[in-house]
Amino acid sequence: MKILENISLKSLNSFGLDVKARYFCTLATLGGLRTVLQWRKTYPDLPVLFLGGGSNMLFVSDFRGLVVKVALRERSVLAEDQDYVYVRAGAGENWHETVRWAIEQGYAGLENLSLIPGTVGAAPMQNIGAYGVELKDCFHELLALDWQTAELRHFSLEACQFAYRDSYFKSIEPNRWLIASVTFRLPKKPVWHLDYAGVPEYLKGQEPSARLISDAIMAIRQAKLPDPAVLGNAGSFFKNPLISAEHYAQLKVTYPNMPAWPQADGLVKLSAGWLIDQLGWKGKRVKDAGTYEKHALVLVNHGTATGTELWAFAQEIIQSVQVRFGLALEPEPRVIE
Ligand SMILES: Cc1cc2nc3c(=O)[nH]c(=O)nc-3n(C[C@H](O)[C@H](O)[C@H](O)COP(=O)(O)OP(=O)(O)OC[C@H]3O[C@@H](n4cnc5c(N)ncnc54)[C@H](O)[C@@H]3O)c2cc1C
Repeated sequence: MKILENISLKSLNSFGLDVKARYFCTLATLGGLRTVLQWRKTYPDLPVLFLGGGSNMLFVSDFRGLVVKVALRERSVLAEDQDYVYVRAGAGENWHETVRWAIEQGYAGLENLSLIPGTVGAAPMQNIGAYGVELKDCFHELLALDWQTAELRHFSLEACQFAYRDSYFKSIEPNRWLIASVTFRLPKKPVWHLDYAGVPEYLKGQEPSARLISDAIMAIRQAKLPDPAVLGNAGSFFKNPLISAEHYAQLKVTYPNMPAWPQADGLVKLSAGWLIDQLGWKGKRVKDAGTYEKHALVLVNHGTATGTELWAFAQEIIQSVQVRFGLALEPEPRVIE
């Protein structure tokens, strides 16, 4: 395995930003790690960035350390018991192709997460979620490599500390664990999640199946979200704020139409998209940085925006939501400054 220098990441991030990695390598086998770890001894303080599909990152500048592009491939059915099938996928596998592969094998559980860009290895990072399902709902365990000690460790569902767009790997020990594979636990008796706008309409009374739901989700997403190959973006740019029930009660007095979803832990989830929309951000643009015309939550690069320009645009949105609603929006993608 080769360590390359000054490599462009333009085709490796979904905003299409023209940034460079000081050092770069592609990890296709765990054996290749020996070379990288040996090489790294010469640069012990060099920062590292694990890269999947680059669809949840905003590069504000070049990355001055080592980018490890994770390309570990595998798809296998490990075991089954009375209720579940256990399926493992390598971190470098494309997420959506893995969902469709599972469906082709006759396994349900992942269909609502169809068409989320990126890789299997990044999915646990922010506990990806869409259309009423999160990764944690069909997660069994993952195998990760400690970048500091080269130790391989299995992480159970509990150990991953999954939460809304969050995990142990994102918040507690970022940059330490390279996720090598993920094992899913897929139910033999599937529970369908069909309550989301557009899904029942697509099914038109047909008997649900994993494939049909996946097709529905794909059609809805394609109509709603910009394709990064055409218009650079990282999906939803802001997390939905989680606030206390008391705080929500206060806001509701002034904003009776504010959408809100009470959570099991007593908090209330608000819609970041609604907040931004109220302030007229949908479709706004400063040079080539803007929000998508159909979806205020999606920050887009119309062509030549830099990471700095996109980040400055995002800061303006954050500021305006803070001033109007007194709420602090947080970016969902990783911002690399
Ligand atoms: C159009 C569009 C729609 C989207 N819709 C959704 C959605 O519905 N729901 C949702 O949750 N997300 C969504 N996203 C965000 C994104 O697709 C997911 O977060 C996805 O999991 C990112 O995968 P990736 O491989 O591109 O990760 P990257 O962007 O490469 O990396 C993201 C983070 O994970 C880390 N990472 C990557 N691989 C590994 C690894 N093997 N080990 C350890 N750390 C690693 C990186 O260092 C970084 O911190 C969307 C993005 C786009 C562009």
